[in-house]
Amino acid sequence: MLVIGAGPAALAIAAALVERGLRVEALALADPAAPWPNTYGIWGPEADRAGLGHLLEHRWSDTVSWFGPEPTRHGIDYGLFDKSALQQHWLDLLAASGVMWHRGRAVSIAHDVFHSEVTTAGGDRLKARLVVDASGHEPVFVQRPTGEPIAGQAAYGIVGRFSRPPVDPDQFVLMDFRADHLSEAERRSESPTFLYAMDLGEGRFFVEETSLALAPPVPYPVLQERLQRRLAHAGITVEAIEHQEFCLFPMNLPLPDLEQRVVGFGGAASMVHPASGYLVGSLLRRAPDLADAIARALTDPALDGAAVARQAWEGIWPLELRRRHALFRFGLEKLMRCPEEQLRAFFTTFFALPRQEWSGFLTNTLPLPELVVAMVRLFATAPWSVRWGLMQQQGRELALLARVLAP
Ligand SMILES: Cc1cc2nc3c(=O)[nH]c(=O)nc-3n(C[C@H](O)[C@H](O)[C@H](O)COP(=O)(O)OP(=O)(O)OC[C@H]3O[C@@H](n4cnc5c(N)ncnc54)[C@H](O)[C@@H]3O)c2cc1C
Repeated sequence: MLVIGAGPAALAIAAALVERGLRVEALALADPAAPWPNTYGIWGPEADRAGLGHLLEHRWSDTVSWFGPEPTRHGIDYGLFDKSALQQHWLDLLAASGVMWHRGRAVSIAHDVFHSEVTTAGGDRLKARLVVDASGHEPVFVQRPTGEPIAGQAAYGIVGRFSRPPVDPDQFVLMDFRADHLSEAERRSESPTFLYAMDLGEGRFFVEETSLALAPPVPYPVLQERLQRRLAHAGITVEAIEHQEFCLFPMNLPLPDLEQRVVGFGGAASMVHPASGYLVGSLLRRAPDLADAIARALTDPALDGAAVARQAWEGIWPLELRRRHALFRFGLEKLMRCPEEQLRAFFTTFFALPRQEWSGFLTNTLPLPELVVAMVRLFATAPWSVRWGLMQQQGRELALLARVLAP
């Protein structure tokens, strides 16, 4: 087995593979222990279920959003991984299993009946029964349909100190959609954005102006200006900036071609939740499924490379998950059309659903029939302005909905 990449997806799948006794080699651009650039947030119970709750650097039980004058209290813990601890956890596991790391940039791949061979920019050739491409959202080998507009989640954030706390002590704010700092005209005509914020302790806070999704994405200067205006409106000045985060990743990538010889994992396999933007929770949950499928396929020495890859793809994208992915993409398309007021009404109704339904939706853990029940309940309990928006089918929405039946 060869795993390409050294991000969270690569380490998660490599760890799951060695846990099943498979011999794994890995290819990283640079030192696999080099710090990851991104920060990873996750709902507490998701980290606990993966047995990784102890690797959360911060954990908040006061978790709220604002869609109107009163806060919506979520009642579920949210956490931020200690990213170097998470990385080290996986690296230690791989080292203990004798995983060999190669360095280099994968540039080409060739297949024969039973094997694949990756060539690096430096001319090294790495041969494996199956290659897992975990090289991120713009994968080096995994192919997916092109030509569809891709929405990006964009955010600009600051870790720093402020003249007064931007959120309550020990609080995590998932989405603050209050927009009193914008003019009526801006609220009507411009794309809605929200504040994602948290108390990091010892007088430090993280505040981030975020656009859930838009194609093309909301530009950073707009987000930066919105954040400044939001803070100024609340009478808050930034006293010290420790770190600035520029965040942009694709939300609604189509599914990869499931007939290809290289298997993807993580961003490379379009695993970002198309309606929430989360990835890490699903890496933790789905790495064992992919590793099981690969381990099963590899026990049969007569199985050719194409058949092994097919079984692996089925492990990562079974029909049920393909259908849910289609439903989430349809949902996001709807959300992207919502004007600000409707969006706030939508989220108020969404978070008033039974907790197990809204959190199951956001973490992609509701089986399809239950997901449909939650969506019907959402429709039934939403105000008419939201229902009307949900009923109108515009652009490619119907085509996306049809993919639920034929993903
Ligand atoms: C600022 C930011 C914040 C985010 N926050 C969250 C969050 O809170 N929660 C969440 O779930 N998601 C979050 N995301 C989204 C998503 O989780 C990340 O983009 C995530 O890093 C994707 O993981 P990955 O392992 O698939 O890819 P990456 O992390 O991009 O890793 C790809 C790896 O492949 C290597 N590579 C690339 N090309 C080659 C090549 N040709 N040959 C060899 N190696 C190669 C790279 O060096 C890298 O090691 C965030 C994204 C950003 C940008």
